[in-house]
Amino acid sequence: ELQHTWTQVDDYMNNLLIPSDSLLEQTLQTNAEAGLPAHDVTPNQGKLLQLLLQIQGASRVLEIGTLGGYSTIWMARALPEHGRIVSLESESHHADLARANLTRAGLMHKVDLRVGPALTTLPDVQEEYREPFDMIFIDADKPSNPDYLRWALRLTRPGSLIIGDNIVRDGEVIRTDSTDPRVQGVRSFLQLIADHPRLEATALQTVGSKGYDGFVIARVIDAPEPK
Ligand code: SAM
Repeated sequence: ELQHTWTQVDDYMNNLLIPSDSLLEQTLQTNAEAGLPAHDVTPNQGKLLQLLLQIQGASRVLEIGTLGGYSTIWMARALPEHGRIVSLESESHHADLARANLTRAGLMHKVDLRVGPALTTLPDVQEEYREPFDMIFIDADKPSNPDYLRWALRLTRPGSLIIGDNIVRDGEVIRTDSTDPRVQGVRSFLQLIADHPRLEATALQTVGSKGYDGFVIARVIDAPEPK
């Protein structure tokens, strides 16, 4: 079966390229025991986020959707000691677990975890963080993706990256008539990216241990000269 093959190939590549890490594994175990949904990024996706931050020379990251802090750990590890990742999470139960996991990983000093719906905590983030973010990872409630993109544009600079996860949704993304608000949220999000003069982007389909999905990577560029 296809899913079985995808999982086996992920396992093969991850065993080769990504040393097993007891802190990350403990984080997943803690989250599972606490009943959190297994909606974390996979190890190879976490490593991709890490590589992108290193390539960027990033020191300021904004994450929308913390869950148990699994992706936060991957990204915080890629930041210099003075670096900061602001991570927004609406569920206090998720945030409590994330805080415990990040503390155990010795990374909490790099993390500013804010509890509440992101659309209510983002104005405070804008007020308190005057410097633009180098990367924004959007991975929360998909119907709000268009709003998160508007915020991301306010909080970045030319050269910043904006990454959106779960944009393929088992292929549902091409269904124009989908009644799933997550699909429509992702479609509007991709359309906004496509139409925006200050973004250039690509989107990739992925298969792996978490099924068939994909992500979009957009780079903020200078506004074109007015004609
Ligand atoms: N980035 C995490 C990782 O890879 O480990 C996974 C995040 S999970 C896909 C989505 C998270 O977004 C959930 O924990 C959910 O509670 C949170 N969320 C949902 N709606 C939200 C909102 N309006 N504001 C902030 N977080 C929200």
